[in-house]
Amino acid sequence: MNTILQIVFNFLFNSILMFITACVLIEIFLFILRIKNYRFRYFARIVPFFKLLFDFYNYGFSNWAFKNEIDPQLFEKGKRMLVLLWGYANELFLPYMHFGFILKNKKTFSFADLISQSVNSKIIFIFCLSVFIILFYLIYQKILYVKNQKSNLVFEDYNYKIQNQILLNKIKKYKIKLKISDKFTSPCSYKKAVIFPKTVVNDLDELEIEAVISHEICHIIFKDGITFKIISILSMFFWFIPGKNLWIKKISNEREYACDFYSKKMNIDPVIFVNVLKKISILQTKNADFTFLMPFTLKNEQIVKRASALLNYEPPKYIWTKFIKMVLLSFVIISIIFGKLWIF
Ligand SMILES: [Zn+2]
Repeated sequence: MNTILQIVFNFLFNSILMFITACVLIEIFLFILRIKNYRFRYFARIVPFFKLLFDFYNYGFSNWAFKNEIDPQLFEKGKRMLVLLWGYANELFLPYMHFGFILKNKKTFSFADLISQSVNSKIIFIFCLSVFIILFYLIYQKILYVKNQKSNLVFEDYNYKIQNQILLNKIKKYKIKLKISDKFTSPCSYKKAVIFPKTVVNDLDELEIEAVISHEICHIIFKDGITFKIISILSMFFWFIPGKNLWIKKISNEREYACDFYSKKMNIDPVIFVNVLKKISILQTKNADFTFLMPFTLKNEQIVKRASALLNYEPPKYIWTKFIKMVLLSFVIISIIFGKLWIF
């Protein structure tokens, strides 16, 4: 088969295997290490998405059996090995995981190689072509949609005097602005602004407005908007990965829990916070119009999970346990990012 087609097929097919494997590994390690911090959990869970890009770098073309015109299926039994390794000896001295196939002569191959050897190359070609045709269609749709939505992004300054001193300091430090708009259905953040919908703001009292701001500035400070955008774009490009939407849901939940918890640091009473979540989810007339922004709540959202995540979270008692967990989790994440999961 044509080398370019073989590379494209490898990239598409292996991305699916890699993504699912990375998600399972992260889930296992979050459980083993008992990571409770929502921000850390969020960072760990976005890794499979960024690895999709990073894998371009991880492919070892010089050791690829196919390029060396070796058919792994012709190798005798015992000379092909399945490697499941967690090691520390690559040229960058970074930890890495290696799940894949290797021949006695050190050449590597992938599941995609095995499939393409046993399936007619026309089928492989049709598969790759359909992936790209659908992708172009999705890109076209997205461009039209975002263009249309962006023209609706109009807001005015919201002159609100914040009483909470901690919150006020944060807002000054990060130069955050308050805005108001009648095009929005839920409060949200956009670039460096917290935006309130006109339909909601009059029903909120002073403490509730500050509760909303405390959540939204967390998204701005941690640049969640940018990460969200990158993930949406990657999710569109890799539309064919099964289960990725479920994973995005998990990521979004963790991100929202993290920002809900941030309100505690801003001295917001958790009871007031839960009440305002509930209130806005009821006040909302419909779900957010801007799918590229992260709404404060969804219409008629079940607040129970968010409330219990906020009220039941207990930070670790000792700073050193937090530190050790963070180091171990970083070790796992680096191993996955630099690792080879089912690629040649
Ligand atoms: Zn949020």
